Amino acid sequence: MIERNFDGYFQQVNELAGKKDKKGYEIENLFEPIMINHKCEIVLRLLPQPATETAPFVENRTHSFKDTDGKWKVVDCLRKNNHKCPLCDWNSAVFDAFPKEKAKDVLKKAGAKKAKKTYICNVYVVKHPGNPDSEGKVYRFKFGVQIMDKLLEKLNGKDDPDKGHIAGVNVFDYYKGANLIYKAKDTEFGPNPEESYFGDQKPISDKNNNPLTDQEIEAIDAKLYTLKECEKDTSKETFEDVLDTYEKLAAKKLYDRTKEDPQGKYKYMPIIPGVDPSNTAATNESVRSEDAEPAAEKPSSENIDEFLNDLT
Ligand SMILES: [Zn+2]
Repeated sequence: MIERNFDGYFQQVNELAGKKDKKGYEIENLFEPIMINHKCEIVLRLLPQPATETAPFVENRTHSFKDTDGKWKVVDCLRKNNHKCPLCDWNSAVFDAFPKEKAKDVLKKAGAKKAKKTYICNVYVVKHPGNPDSEGKVYRFKFGVQIMDKLLEKLNGKDDPDKGHIAGVNVFDYYKGANLIYKAKDTEFGPNPEESYFGDQKPISDKNNNPLTDQEIEAIDAKLYTLKECEKDTSKETFEDVLDTYEKLAAKKLYDRTKEDPQGKYKYMPIIPGVDPSNTAATNESVRSEDAEPAAEKPSSENIDEFLNDLT
Protein backbone atom coordinates (compact mmCIF):
# COMPACT_ATOMS: atom_id res chain seq x y z
CA MET A 1 0.00 0.00 0.00
CA ILE A 2 1.45 3.32 -1.04
CA GLU A 3 1.28 6.12 1.46
CA ARG A 4 2.75 9.49 0.77
CA ASN A 5 3.63 11.71 3.67
CA PHE A 6 0.98 14.41 3.71
CA ASP A 7 2.27 16.35 6.72
CA GLY A 8 1.57 20.01 6.28
CA TYR A 9 0.12 19.14 2.96
CA PHE A 10 -3.17 21.02 3.07
CA GLN A 11 -1.38 24.10 4.22
CA GLN A 12 1.13 23.76 1.42
CA VAL A 13 -1.57 23.35 -1.20
CA ASN A 14 -3.41 26.37 0.13
CA GLU A 15 -0.29 28.49 0.23
CA LEU A 16 0.70 27.56 -3.30
CA ALA A 17 -2.74 28.24 -4.68
CA GLY A 18 -3.46 31.27 -2.57
CA LYS A 19 -0.34 33.14 -3.61
CA LYS A 20 -1.61 31.94 -6.33
CA ASP A 21 6.40 28.80 -18.63
CA LYS A 22 10.25 27.50 -18.85
CA LYS A 23 8.04 24.93 -20.58
CA GLY A 24 4.50 26.07 -19.89
CA TYR A 25 3.49 25.69 -23.51
CA GLU A 26 5.64 22.68 -24.40
CA ILE A 27 4.93 20.25 -21.61
CA GLU A 28 5.39 16.65 -22.63
CA ASN A 29 2.85 13.89 -22.12
CA LEU A 30 0.11 16.37 -21.49
CA PHE A 31 -3.44 15.06 -21.26
CA GLU A 32 -5.68 16.32 -24.05
CA PRO A 33 -9.45 16.17 -23.61
CA ILE A 34 -11.13 15.01 -26.81
CA MET A 35 -14.52 16.56 -27.46
CA ILE A 36 -17.53 14.87 -28.97
CA ASN A 37 -19.93 17.41 -30.50
CA HIS A 38 -17.93 20.21 -28.89
CA LYS A 39 -18.30 18.90 -25.36
CA CYS A 40 -16.84 16.24 -23.12
CA GLU A 41 -17.40 14.49 -19.81
CA ILE A 42 -14.22 12.76 -18.73
CA VAL A 43 -13.51 10.99 -15.44
CA LEU A 44 -10.03 11.78 -14.15
CA ARG A 45 -8.16 10.97 -10.97
CA LEU A 46 -5.62 13.53 -9.90
CA LEU A 47 -2.54 11.76 -8.55
CA PRO A 48 -0.01 12.53 -5.83
CA GLN A 49 3.40 13.95 -6.68
CA PRO A 50 6.30 11.61 -7.43
CA ALA A 51 8.08 10.45 -4.26
CA THR A 52 11.00 12.81 -4.95
CA GLU A 53 8.83 15.95 -4.89
CA THR A 54 6.91 17.78 -2.18
CA ALA A 55 3.82 19.27 -3.84
CA PRO A 56 1.15 17.53 -5.95
CA PHE A 57 1.10 20.35 -8.48
CA VAL A 58 3.22 23.23 -9.72
CA GLU A 59 2.07 26.67 -10.77
CA ASN A 60 3.06 29.06 -13.55
CA ARG A 61 1.83 32.63 -14.03
CA THR A 62 1.88 34.72 -17.18
CA HIS A 63 0.41 37.94 -18.53
CA SER A 64 -0.81 37.83 -22.13
CA PHE A 65 -1.06 40.81 -24.44
CA LYS A 66 -1.03 41.64 -28.14
CA ASP A 67 2.22 42.71 -29.75
CA THR A 68 2.53 45.35 -32.47
CA ASP A 69 1.54 42.77 -35.13
CA GLY A 70 -1.58 41.85 -33.19
CA LYS A 71 -0.15 38.49 -32.13
CA TRP A 72 -0.64 37.19 -28.60
CA LYS A 73 2.53 37.19 -26.52
CA VAL A 74 3.19 36.34 -22.90
CA VAL A 75 5.55 37.61 -20.23
CA ASP A 76 6.08 35.99 -16.87
CA CYS A 77 4.28 37.34 -13.85
CA LEU A 78 6.67 37.75 -10.94
CA ARG A 79 4.15 37.89 -8.14
CA LYS A 80 4.14 34.17 -7.38
CA ASN A 81 7.36 34.51 -5.41
CA ASN A 82 6.09 37.72 -3.82
CA HIS A 83 8.27 39.79 -6.12
CA LYS A 84 7.04 43.03 -7.58
CA CYS A 85 5.60 42.51 -11.05
CA PRO A 86 5.49 45.49 -13.44
CA LEU A 87 2.19 44.45 -15.04
CA CYS A 88 0.40 43.60 -11.78
CA ASP A 89 1.66 46.83 -10.20
CA TRP A 90 0.51 48.87 -13.17
CA ASN A 91 -2.94 47.28 -13.07
CA SER A 92 -3.13 48.05 -9.34
CA ALA A 93 -2.07 51.66 -9.92
CA VAL A 94 -4.89 52.11 -12.45
CA PHE A 95 -7.31 50.42 -10.10
CA ASP A 96 -6.34 52.79 -7.30
CA ALA A 97 -6.32 55.91 -9.48
CA PHE A 98 -9.88 55.94 -10.79
CA PRO A 99 -13.45 55.11 -9.93
CA LYS A 100 -14.48 51.62 -11.03
CA GLU A 101 -15.93 52.32 -14.51
CA LYS A 102 -13.11 54.63 -15.52
CA ALA A 103 -10.48 52.14 -14.28
CA LYS A 104 -12.17 49.41 -16.29
CA ASP A 105 -12.09 51.55 -19.37
CA VAL A 106 -8.39 52.40 -18.99
CA LEU A 107 -7.46 48.76 -18.37
CA LYS A 108 -9.48 47.53 -21.34
CA LYS A 109 -7.77 49.99 -23.65
CA ALA A 110 -4.34 49.15 -22.23
CA GLY A 111 -4.81 45.49 -23.06
CA ALA A 112 -2.48 44.19 -20.35
CA LYS A 113 -4.27 41.25 -18.85
CA LYS A 114 -4.49 40.02 -15.34
CA ALA A 115 -1.92 37.30 -14.63
CA LYS A 116 -3.18 33.89 -15.69
CA LYS A 117 -2.38 31.03 -13.35
CA THR A 118 -1.96 27.52 -14.68
CA TYR A 119 -1.26 24.39 -12.68
CA ILE A 120 0.22 21.03 -13.63
CA CYS A 121 -0.25 17.74 -11.81
CA ASN A 122 -0.28 14.02 -12.62
CA VAL A 123 -3.52 12.45 -13.69
CA TYR A 124 -4.90 8.95 -14.26
CA VAL A 125 -7.57 8.72 -16.94
CA VAL A 126 -10.51 6.65 -15.69
CA LYS A 127 -13.03 7.18 -18.47
CA HIS A 128 -12.56 9.15 -21.69
CA PRO A 129 -15.30 8.53 -24.29
CA GLY A 130 -13.52 10.69 -26.90
CA ASN A 131 -10.26 8.73 -26.62
CA PRO A 132 -10.65 5.28 -24.97
CA ASP A 133 -6.95 4.58 -25.70
CA SER A 134 -6.00 7.05 -22.99
CA GLU A 135 -8.01 5.20 -20.32
CA GLY A 136 -5.87 3.57 -17.63
CA LYS A 137 -2.88 5.74 -18.52
CA VAL A 138 -0.99 8.44 -16.63
CA TYR A 139 -0.46 11.93 -18.05
CA ARG A 140 0.48 15.40 -16.96
CA PHE A 141 -2.64 17.50 -16.55
CA LYS A 142 -2.70 21.26 -17.03
CA PHE A 143 -5.57 23.19 -15.52
CA GLY A 144 -6.57 26.71 -14.59
CA VAL A 145 -8.21 28.59 -11.75
CA GLN A 146 -11.69 27.22 -12.44
CA ILE A 147 -10.58 23.68 -11.58
CA MET A 148 -8.28 24.95 -8.81
CA ASP A 149 -11.17 26.69 -7.08
CA LYS A 150 -13.17 23.46 -7.09
CA LEU A 151 -10.12 21.54 -5.92
CA LEU A 152 -9.56 23.88 -2.97
CA GLU A 153 -13.19 23.65 -1.96
CA LYS A 154 -13.01 19.86 -2.02
CA LEU A 155 -9.72 19.87 -0.07
CA ASN A 156 -10.91 22.29 2.56
CA GLY A 157 -14.49 21.14 2.93
CA LYS A 158 -17.35 23.57 3.32
CA ASP A 159 -20.46 24.42 5.30
CA ASP A 160 -23.53 23.31 3.42
CA PRO A 161 -26.89 24.85 4.40
CA ASP A 162 -28.57 21.45 4.04
CA LYS A 163 -25.92 18.86 4.94
CA GLY A 164 -24.01 20.85 7.58
CA HIS A 165 -20.22 20.78 7.50
CA ILE A 166 -18.79 18.69 4.70
CA ALA A 167 -15.27 17.49 5.56
CA GLY A 168 -12.39 18.13 3.17
CA VAL A 169 -11.02 15.36 0.96
CA ASN A 170 -7.44 15.03 -0.19
CA VAL A 171 -8.37 14.37 -3.80
CA PHE A 172 -4.84 13.25 -4.69
CA ASP A 173 -4.94 10.21 -2.38
CA TYR A 174 -5.13 6.79 -4.11
CA TYR A 175 -7.43 5.35 -1.48
CA LYS A 176 -9.28 8.25 0.11
CA GLY A 177 -9.35 10.71 -2.77
CA ALA A 178 -12.09 11.58 -5.24
CA ASN A 179 -12.46 11.66 -9.02
CA LEU A 180 -12.63 14.83 -11.04
CA ILE A 181 -15.50 14.81 -13.50
CA TYR A 182 -14.01 17.03 -16.16
CA LYS A 183 -17.01 18.46 -17.96
CA ALA A 184 -16.14 20.99 -20.63
CA LYS A 185 -17.52 22.80 -23.64
CA ASP A 186 -15.52 23.96 -26.65
CA THR A 187 -15.24 27.73 -26.95
CA GLU A 188 -13.18 30.01 -29.17
CA PHE A 189 -10.69 30.27 -26.29
CA GLY A 190 -10.40 26.49 -25.82
CA PRO A 191 -12.30 24.12 -23.53
CA ASN A 192 -14.29 25.78 -20.75
CA PRO A 193 -14.41 23.36 -17.78
CA GLU A 194 -16.81 25.46 -15.73
CA GLU A 195 -19.21 22.59 -15.06
CA SER A 196 -16.53 20.20 -13.80
CA TYR A 197 -16.85 18.84 -10.28
CA PHE A 198 -15.29 16.40 -7.84
CA GLY A 199 -17.20 13.22 -7.04
CA ASP A 200 -17.58 11.43 -3.73
CA GLN A 201 -14.64 10.10 -1.76
CA LYS A 202 -13.63 6.64 -2.99
CA PRO A 203 -10.59 4.59 -3.96
CA ILE A 204 -9.10 4.93 -7.43
CA SER A 205 -10.89 2.58 -9.83
CA ASP A 206 -11.12 1.50 -13.45
CA LYS A 207 -13.82 2.72 -15.82
CA ASN A 208 -16.24 0.07 -14.54
CA ASN A 209 -15.84 1.29 -10.98
CA ASN A 210 -13.73 -1.68 -9.87
CA PRO A 211 -11.19 -0.43 -7.29
CA LEU A 212 -7.61 -0.92 -8.45
CA THR A 213 -5.45 -3.43 -6.59
CA ASP A 214 -2.39 -2.39 -4.58
CA GLN A 215 -0.27 -3.83 -7.35
CA GLU A 216 -2.03 -1.74 -9.99
CA ILE A 217 -1.65 1.35 -7.86
CA GLU A 218 2.06 0.67 -7.45
CA ALA A 219 2.38 0.41 -11.23
CA ILE A 220 0.67 3.82 -11.60
CA ASP A 221 2.86 5.33 -8.91
CA ALA A 222 5.96 4.18 -10.78
CA LYS A 223 4.78 6.10 -13.85
CA LEU A 224 4.29 9.49 -12.19
CA TYR A 225 5.88 12.32 -14.13
CA THR A 226 8.14 14.87 -12.54
CA LEU A 227 6.41 18.20 -12.04
CA LYS A 228 9.29 20.42 -10.99
CA GLU A 229 10.62 20.63 -14.52
CA CYS A 230 7.26 22.02 -15.68
CA GLU A 231 7.53 24.94 -13.31
CA LYS A 232 9.17 27.96 -14.79
CA ASP A 233 11.82 29.39 -12.52
CA THR A 234 11.26 33.15 -12.49
CA SER A 235 13.35 33.80 -9.38
CA LYS A 236 16.15 35.38 -11.41
CA GLU A 237 13.92 37.53 -13.60
CA THR A 238 13.75 41.11 -12.45
CA PHE A 239 11.05 43.77 -12.57
CA GLU A 240 13.12 45.48 -15.22
CA ASP A 241 13.57 42.32 -17.36
CA VAL A 242 9.83 41.77 -17.58
CA LEU A 243 9.11 45.45 -18.16
CA ASP A 244 11.73 45.67 -20.93
CA THR A 245 10.27 42.63 -22.68
CA TYR A 246 6.73 43.94 -22.42
CA GLU A 247 7.52 47.48 -23.52
CA LYS A 248 9.54 46.23 -26.49
CA LEU A 249 6.92 43.74 -27.72
CA ALA A 250 3.90 45.93 -27.05
CA ALA A 251 5.71 49.10 -28.17
CA LYS A 252 4.14 50.86 -25.23
CA LYS A 253 5.61 52.49 -22.13
CA LEU A 254 4.12 51.49 -18.81
CA TYR A 255 6.47 53.42 -16.52
CA ASP A 256 8.63 56.50 -16.48
CA ARG A 257 12.03 55.55 -15.20
CA THR A 258 13.94 58.19 -13.34
CA LYS A 259 17.35 57.75 -11.76
CA GLU A 260 16.78 57.68 -8.04
CA ASP A 261 20.41 57.69 -6.94
CA PRO A 262 23.89 58.05 -8.50
CA GLN A 263 24.38 54.24 -8.43
CA GLY A 264 21.88 54.09 -11.25
CA LYS A 265 18.97 52.67 -9.32
CA TYR A 266 15.70 53.51 -11.01
CA LYS A 267 12.44 54.75 -9.67
CA TYR A 268 9.41 53.62 -11.65
CA MET A 269 6.40 55.91 -12.02
CA PRO A 270 3.38 54.30 -13.67
CA ILE A 271 2.25 56.12 -16.82
CA ILE A 272 -1.52 56.25 -16.64
CA PRO A 273 -3.57 58.18 -19.19
CA GLY A 274 -5.06 61.25 -17.50
CA VAL A 275 -2.83 61.02 -14.43
CA ASP A 276 0.27 63.17 -13.93
CA PRO A 277 2.98 60.74 -12.77
CA SER A 278 4.74 63.45 -10.77
CA ASN A 279 1.66 64.20 -8.69
CA THR A 280 -0.27 60.96 -8.65
CA ALA A 281 -2.05 61.35 -5.33
CA ALA A 282 -3.31 64.92 -5.92
CA THR A 283 -4.38 64.18 -9.49
CA ASN A 284 -6.17 61.06 -8.44
CA GLU A 285 -8.14 63.00 -5.89
CA SER A 286 -9.27 65.51 -8.49
CA VAL A 287 -10.14 62.77 -10.97
CA ARG A 288 -12.23 61.08 -8.33
CA SER A 289 -14.17 64.19 -7.33
CA GLU A 290 -14.80 65.11 -10.97
CA ASP A 291 -16.44 61.79 -11.59
CA ALA A 292 -18.45 62.25 -8.40
CA GLU A 293 -19.04 58.54 -8.07
CA PRO A 294 -20.33 57.45 -4.66
CA ALA A 295 -17.52 56.03 -2.57
CA ALA A 296 -19.43 52.79 -2.02
CA GLU A 297 -19.10 51.89 -5.69
CA LYS A 298 -15.34 52.03 -5.59
CA PRO A 299 -14.18 48.48 -5.00
CA SER A 300 -11.84 48.00 -2.09
CA SER A 301 -8.29 46.97 -2.91
CA GLU A 302 -9.06 43.42 -1.74
CA ASN A 303 -11.48 43.19 -4.63
CA ILE A 304 -8.94 43.93 -7.32
CA ASP A 305 -8.71 40.28 -8.42
CA GLU A 306 -12.46 40.07 -8.79
CA PHE A 307 -12.50 43.38 -10.57
CA LEU A 308 -9.81 42.30 -13.05
CA ASN A 309 -11.62 39.01 -13.65
CA ASP A 310 -14.57 40.96 -15.05
CA LEU A 311 -12.32 42.39 -17.71
CA THR A 312 -11.17 39.13 -19.25
ZN1 LIG B 1 2.07 40.06 -12.71
